[in-house]
Amino acid sequence: SSTASFSRTPATHPLSPRRREAPPREGAVRVLPMGSSDMASQPQSDSVKVAVNVRPLITPELVLGCTDCVTVTPGEPQVQIGPHVFTYDHVYGSTGSSSSLIFEQCVYPLVDSLFCGYNTTVLAYGQTGSGKTYTMGTNYSGESNCGGIIPQVMETIFKKADAMKGDTEFLIRVSFIEIFKEEVFDLLDDPGSVAKAAAPARVPIQIRETANGSITLAGVTEAEVKSKEEMALHLARGSLSRATGSTNMNSQSSRSHAIFTISIEQKRTSSSASEKSTSNEYDILSSKFHLVDLAGSERAKRTGADGLRLKEGIHINRGLLALGNVISALGDEKKRKEGAFVPYRDSKLTRLLQDSLGGNSKTVMIACISPADSNAEETINTLKYANRARNIQNKAVINRDPVTAEMQKLRSQLEQLQSELLFSRSGSAALEELQLLQQKVSLLELKNSELYCELKEREMSCEQLAQRAIATQLEKDQLMLKLESARNGKSWDDIENAGSEQDVDLMKTYISKIQQLEAEVTRQKFTTACRNGLHDRLALDKGMLLDDLGSGCEVGTLEVSSEVDEEEKEREHSSIQEKLDMELQDLDKRLQQKEAEMKQFAKSDTSVLKQHYETKLHEMEQEKRAFQKEIEDLRHALAKLSSSTDECSHKMKDNYLQKLSMLENQVSQLKKKQDAHQQLLRQKQKSDDAAMRLQGEIQRIKSQKVQLQQKIKQESEQFRSWKAAREKEVLQLKKEGRRNEYEMHKLLALNQKQKMVLQRKTEEATMATKRLKDLLEAKKSTRDAHGK
Ligand code: ADP
Ligand code: MG
Repeated sequence: SSTASFSRTPATHPLSPRRREAPPREGAVRVLPMGSSDMASQPQSDSVKVAVNVRPLITPELVLGCTDCVTVTPGEPQVQIGPHVFTYDHVYGSTGSSSSLIFEQCVYPLVDSLFCGYNTTVLAYGQTGSGKTYTMGTNYSGESNCGGIIPQVMETIFKKADAMKGDTEFLIRVSFIEIFKEEVFDLLDDPGSVAKAAAPARVPIQIRETANGSITLAGVTEAEVKSKEEMALHLARGSLSRATGSTNMNSQSSRSHAIFTISIEQKRTSSSASEKSTSNEYDILSSKFHLVDLAGSERAKRTGADGLRLKEGIHINRGLLALGNVISALGDEKKRKEGAFVPYRDSKLTRLLQDSLGGNSKTVMIACISPADSNAEETINTLKYANRARNIQNKAVINRDPVTAEMQKLRSQLEQLQSELLFSRSGSAALEELQLLQQKVSLLELKNSELYCELKEREMSCEQLAQRAIATQLEKDQLMLKLESARNGKSWDDIENAGSEQDVDLMKTYISKIQQLEAEVTRQKFTTACRNGLHDRLALDKGMLLDDLGSGCEVGTLEVSSEVDEEEKEREHSSIQEKLDMELQDLDKRLQQKEAEMKQFAKSDTSVLKQHYETKLHEMEQEKRAFQKEIEDLRHALAKLSSSTDECSHKMKDNYLQKLSMLENQVSQLKKKQDAHQQLLRQKQKSDDAAMRLQGEIQRIKSQKVQLQQKIKQESEQFRSWKAAREKEVLQLKKEGRRNEYEMHKLLALNQKQKMVLQRKTEEATMATKRLKDLLEAKKSTRDAHGK
């Protein structure tokens, strides 16, 4: 909550400092000095515009059989009542202009002025029940636009503000107060608490006068609003607390003055300011729109009976009387020229409205009257009052303040300094943050080194494992080799079925025996060669490869040596065969591995994969056969070579062996590739299967969902149709009820009226009868006198 200012000097910006000019003379109507020679700032002399709104006869008046006693001169803003004729700026209602034109003709120009920076005021004056609240729209509840002034003002203000948004910033605020028994109450205080408004302990607001003469309300709620809806909400809330007060306090609303104030601050942005070539020190306009719903004017005369009412009446008296006096003082041209005293201080109402009446404001007064003959006296009073108000001259000025510009500058400077301060303050915070980050970094570094060590360890263990794997592989290969050599000549199937440890052991022993024998043979050969000196090189070379069968060859003759040669060749062949078989064994071993793997896969996986593996197996078999064939060829070649025992053949043999190993390598690589391929295929197959399964499940769930949705839809459809039928029924019943009620009311009214008329007629008849009787008696008495 802040301070509302009902300033009599050019309305000051809430942030602007005191004006440098001297405070105005108390109560005087001043020609306002302005700090600029700007034409627009020159005060404009405006008389208070007065409009009369004649409402139609309302039901209670019609019930009492009242008649219309007010006539509006056609085409003229003139009202005639009995012998009195009054002329105003506008007259609305009762065959004058339509009441709906009030806003367009009287209030809309004020809204325009408001946006130009003028203070504006609309006052509704009149006796209770004359339509003040109706005309002002103070009871605006938000839903239906009853055509009241305030709702239309709100709408127009926001339309205009929206249109000007491009080059102007707006700050729109509202306050809503009530003056009851010479106390000011904040109707927007304590949002939502209706109970508090109804409670007797409402805290009145103090009026304060600042040194520069502007009048403020200490601590009044000034709510900032951003939209029409928001503003309407505040109005409705205030009206509600006023209405609640009225039910608790005996029709308070007709004894209290309500002032709804809309304050607008406009700040032109630079683009429009430069367009306007005037110095941009006037870039802030602040203006106020007071919308005043006064208390019923009839109280000034009718109260005075019982205590409480009297007190209230006096208070209301004071406000309206003071208003009347102010209006009189201002309206009298002669007095005004003399600079006579205007009693603004006589009441809170006049103090608050000081600017609206004879001050810095453009003001429209709407006098509301009832056309009923029973209210004729009050109506004449109201019309007189309003007529006097027409003579009031206001001096409205655009509320621009050169100080505001400087203020603005200082404000922006302050903002900058604040931000700088914030920045410098955040320096220490940044240091802390830095330290924190450093700690974090060191922690992360530690962790990183730990992880690195772990990685190293893992790598080492990995290497070890790999070595071990190689070693095992080697061992295994050797074993397989031995096994194969032990089983030379056996069929493939036999080899596959074999593999017991016993056999392996047996083979081991055999092999070791063979090796021993071989070594012995070599040794013997060597000794023989040394002894005989006949040992040729080939024999020496091949001696290492000789079998144990050549033991006992201690012969020196040539025949014997040829025999020995034959035997040697045989052994050589067998050893080569052995080597080739070794290679073959290697292949077989790999094949076996593959087969095992395939078997495993076939066991664990689907038939598709099995088939796939089978084809692979078949392929490999074929490959193997091809290799076997090649090996066979090589054997033949070797056999041929071994018959010709020279160095060349030896080299060729080596070549062949190399080729064989190369081929082998190629085959193994191929197999590896195949393995990888298979692995991928298998994974894909698996994921495909899972996906398929999931797909199926999803499909099932989806179908279930669709079914459920359909079911829900059906049910809701049924329910809706049932509900619609119900509602229709209820609506019809209600309508019927209303019609019945209306009919009843009409009949009642008719009945009442008939009764009244009957009563009047009866009274008239009795009066007539009485008069007749009197007349007759008078005649009789005269006749009697004559007779005597
Ligand atoms: P006030 O505020 O002056 O005491 P209200 O505005 O409460 O008077 O009006 C009294 C009654 O007259 C209300 O019922 C209102 O609906 C009715 N009334 C006032 N002005 C008009 C109008 N122009 N047209 C129809 N009814 C009206
Ligand atoms: Mg009212």
